[in-house]
Amino acid sequence: MKKGFTMTWSEWQVPPFISSVFFILGVLTLYWVTFTWLETWCHRRHVAIADDVLNAWYGVIYMLVFVFSMQTPILGRAIAWEFMNFQLIAVIFCAYFLNIHISGYFFPPIVLAYMVFNGSLRYWQSWGYAITLVAFFLVMNWIRVKFHDQRHAWLVYMGVGVAFGGVMWLWMKLKFHFSWATFQQEWLYLVIFELLLYAYVNMLTHDGELKVRLSRLASHDTLTQTQNFSAYTSAMKFLFRESSRTDQPLSMIMFDIDHFKQVNDTYGHSAGDAVLQQVAATVKSVLTNTDSKLKLYRTGGEEFNILLPNYDLSRTSQIATAIFEAVNRLTVTVGTQEIRVSLSIGVSTMLTADASPMDFYNRVDQNLYYAKQHGRKQITVA
Ligand code: GH3
Ligand code: MG
Ligand code: MG
Repeated sequence: MKKGFTMTWSEWQVPPFISSVFFILGVLTLYWVTFTWLETWCHRRHVAIADDVLNAWYGVIYMLVFVFSMQTPILGRAIAWEFMNFQLIAVIFCAYFLNIHISGYFFPPIVLAYMVFNGSLRYWQSWGYAITLVAFFLVMNWIRVKFHDQRHAWLVYMGVGVAFGGVMWLWMKLKFHFSWATFQQEWLYLVIFELLLYAYVNMLTHDGELKVRLSRLASHDTLTQTQNFSAYTSAMKFLFRESSRTDQPLSMIMFDIDHFKQVNDTYGHSAGDAVLQQVAATVKSVLTNTDSKLKLYRTGGEEFNILLPNYDLSRTSQIATAIFEAVNRLTVTVGTQEIRVSLSIGVSTMLTADASPMDFYNRVDQNLYYAKQHGRKQITVA
């Protein structure tokens, strides 16, 4: 390397405080980026795990790996307290922001394991520290639930954080006998980290909520509260591939409201909208009562679709019949008008000869067309 061009550790003129700020922000950003990636991955694979469960598990594992790997090199040394602020930030993150609930039985083994690891079982100060830390976790859990929606939530958060932080550092001062100046400085740093954590996580989750709202909008039909065409296409692609791979049946029900144009022409467009909404609600309640995993897709104006993985033709026909009859019984009341509608339904199941989702789709579509051609208000299964 050329002499004179050095940027070695000793010449890196950034105060430790600044580097720890960026360290904490970096840890959180890395968490957020990897969590978002994992979440998208699970959604794409249709892994059945709720986002908050994933967030909680991943969050705890991530933070534990960090805390343990940072603590290992300084174990048993006089500076064993150096990363305490970081550990406290990790605890606050899990208890407050991820709002992870750990049941009472789990605290003693976790605390003992950490104290054995840390070699601190014989220090009474460490016991005081451990008990305060568990209390801190529980209080953080509690204020999150209790004050989360209130305007002054951040004040409660800071109040609790500052008070507990002071007590925690006091235990450490009693154990390691560092100066009052160090005590004050570390406590102050903790307060600043807590503020940063609050601002930064709120910024990130705000972004996340926006993403959730947008992705819901992108796959959702607002009028009928069903999934939309784009969601249908992606589910169809995925289920078709899964079914080819696993050799499990995949069936489809497609239906279209009969003479819907007449409903619009006779009662007006908004009455038509009400009919669409109630037909969708009726079909959704049939599906919920049969199998809550089945989803209804609105694939056209008054045309809907249901994909049924692991359903053969005869079980699918039973569901189609239940839907058909439920809509026949439905009366939509708009003002003084009572509107009744019927459905034409096409049903089919995937065949080994189907080379693409389109082949499968076309057969169901032809069955629906057949039902329309032969007088409507009927089901064609083939
Ligand atoms: P068929 O029995 O052959 O299905 O006859 P149809 O009248 O139901 O079929 P057609 O395709 O001729 O008409 C569908 C109508 O659905 C035309 C369109 O104005 C109406 N439509 C589509 N989307 C909406 C909507 O969101 N709201 C309302 N009110 N009407 C809609
Ligand atoms: Mg129609
Ligand atoms: Mg139509």
